[in-house]
Amino acid sequence: MQITEIYKSLQGESSHAGLPCVFVRLTGCNLRCVWCDSEYTFKGGVRMTAEEIEREVQRLSPDGGLVEITGGEPLLQERELVPLMDRLLTTGYTVLLETSGERPLEAVPAGVIKIVDVKCPDSGEGNTFRLENLKALTPRDEVKFVVASRGDYEFARDFIRQHELSSRVANVILSPAFKKDAAGARDASHCLVDPQALAEWMLADRLKARLGLQIHKFIWEPSLKGV
Ligand code: SF4
Repeated sequence: MQITEIYKSLQGESSHAGLPCVFVRLTGCNLRCVWCDSEYTFKGGVRMTAEEIEREVQRLSPDGGLVEITGGEPLLQERELVPLMDRLLTTGYTVLLETSGERPLEAVPAGVIKIVDVKCPDSGEGNTFRLENLKALTPRDEVKFVVASRGDYEFARDFIRQHELSSRVANVILSPAFKKDAAGARDASHCLVDPQALAEWMLADRLKARLGLQIHKFIWEPSLKGV
């Protein structure tokens, strides 16, 4: 597998936010979201076998816990990734898979918690979510929308209602997009949508979803990688 980095930090998003987590970041992405903060994953990386990756995960987190498979788009390397996720589950890790939902999800092992980032229009990659993937979502999974405008919010709201997401998955999360090259202050000034406005829209619409903040951007300097 082509790997950009493996490191331990706190989980910054999803309902697991705040928990220690080993991140396995795979190289390569087939999308180009305008606010992407992971462009360094598009190229390069190092070749690692599943055994080498598992050994590094065990070194960083010998007592089990959370492992997040992320990217880039990890499912571009599905053939090798599925056996790796199976190995990590067998060893006793809780495995999260962050994906855009543009690639098929059927082959993802049942024990993996999928965190599906459905792209909103202002990402520049709207309409990339594969609707057939709705069938592969389980009550363990989470669906996330990164919101950069009121238009994005309305897209997310309508998608959640149309596909009854809150009854399909454990959590539906709306999260303000961060400015692409945010640096300096660790506060909400870098958000493309004011979290307060997003919260008020959600409350006004009685949306069955939770507001998520990328807490690592508030804990560490926002331009820092590997945290
Ligand atoms: S899917 Fe993720 S890694 Fe790929 S361009 Fe979008 S934000 Fe960046």
